[in-house]
Order: sequence, then structure tokens, then C-alpha cells
Amino acid sequence: MEPLIISVAVTGGEHGREATPHLPITPEEIARSAHEAYEAGAAIVHVHVRDDDGVPGHFLERYRFVMDYLGERCDMIVNLTTDPGGIVEGDARFRSLDLSPELATLDAGTMQAPTGDRIVEGSLPFLRRLAGRMLETGTKPELEIFHSGMIRTCLQLAEEGLLEPPLYFQFVLGAAGYAPGIPGELLGLLGQIPPRSPWSVAGIGRASVAMTMMGIMLGGHVRVGLEDQVYYRRGELATSNAQLVARAVRLAGEFGRPVAGPGEARELLGLVDGPPAR
Ligand code: ZN
Repeated sequence: MEPLIISVAVTGGEHGREATPHLPITPEEIARSAHEAYEAGAAIVHVHVRDDDGVPGHFLERYRFVMDYLGERCDMIVNLTTDPGGIVEGDARFRSLDLSPELATLDAGTMQAPTGDRIVEGSLPFLRRLAGRMLETGTKPELEIFHSGMIRTCLQLAEEGLLEPPLYFQFVLGAAGYAPGIPGELLGLLGQIPPRSPWSVAGIGRASVAMTMMGIMLGGHVRVGLEDQVYYRRGELATSNAQLVARAVRLAGEFGRPVAGPGEARELLGLVDGPPAR
């Protein structure tokens, strides 16, 4: 079977230390946690950064610290967010692309934040500008899909020439207010993406283990990490991102799927330029 790409979402832009004391907050903690996750088997790290109080935002020097820290130690693929959370809105969300990351997220529609008190813009004109900016910076979009209508939006952007094949989909299932993290939902979504598109699935909260197993079993890829789940199992907090990655590696082993290193992941996702020059 095709090697499994494990993405790790190490901190996110929503919950803070009130949710778990194990959440990395400072650039040093985020970088170290990402590197530990790499050593455990993750090929891609999805990065948000925060200020010292844990408030998320686009702090370019902090992104750069994380990218440099990893670049000095490994060839892990860095996937920066374009929805940092906090108060960053509108086209200010594109600022992380100034660093020309290999991958960045594109939430393919208007959404409400998990807390319900913030609207995340995703109108077509906004998404056209976002996708266009990614073409300029040579960044491959990771298409964040929270429900099936978002797939149709991506297909439209591809038709307009704003997304280049292969389209890379990340299904985020189980978030409050969006598609649930159940097998039937994932199967339905898979029927709607173009053939041979690489895809990955992230199950939020208690949907995580089931969605990880589905992703492994169906030949997709998976995302785990403290952005998506703070519990390892019911009543027991996860102690690190690496712990969650290690579980995905063990599950892949049971299904007979090898785990992709960053080089293999680049090939599978069509990241033809390789790691950025330093
Ligand atoms: Zn994120």
C-alpha cells in the first residue's frame, strides 16, 4: 500500500492552556514539539503561532523561528495556517504566505470558529484572492473540507485555473456545527473528489481514532495533534503531539501501511520543488 503521510497539527489557534497544560505555546515549544512529532513519524507539521500569552496571530518572526529550527534538523514539510485565529481577519490572513511555505491551509468556505463567536471568511472572491496569492508564492494549498459544499467550491476554483492538480484535500470531520466524524460521512466525501487526488482526514476530538483508522484503511492520509484533540482517550489528556503521532504509526503498522518520510510525502502531494533553499 501507498505510504501513509502523517500530518501533525501541534497547537492550533483556538484552545489554549486552559484546555491542556501540554499545549505548546512559545515558538521554542512549538518547534520542539514539531520535531518530536517528526521523530515519531510525522512528515508534515501544520503550524499556528501565538504570542507569549497564548493569543494566536500571524507573527512572521515566530513562524520563521519554527521553520528555521526544523530546517536545521530535518526535512519536515511546513504547512502554515491562513486562518491563525484571534483577531486576524480578511486579507491580513494571507500574511503567512509571505514566507513562501511549501504548504498552507485554504478553508474552502465561510465558517464559524469552533467557539461560535467568530466568522471565518470564505466567500468566492476571498478564496480567489487567497488561491491566487498561493500561486504567486509557490505554495500548495491544503484544501480544508468541513462539508461537501466546500469540495464543489474547490472544483470551481480549479476550473478557473486558481488551483493546480493534484488537488490535496484535508477532511476535517467532527467539528461542532460541521460534518460529523463518522465513516459514512467520509465515504460520501470521497465519492466527490477527483480520482487520484491525495486526501487526508483529521477527526476532531473523540472522532480522531476512528478517522485515523479510516484514513489508513482507505488509502488516504491522516492528521492528528493537539489542535484537533487534547485527550488521548476518554478522561486522559494526551501528553504530547508525538504521543498522538506514535499511535497513528502503530495503527498504520497493524494495517500494513508504511509511514512516509517528508521526501515520499512531497512526491505523493506533487510538491515538486522540494524543501525551500536555505
Ligand atoms: Zn489550524
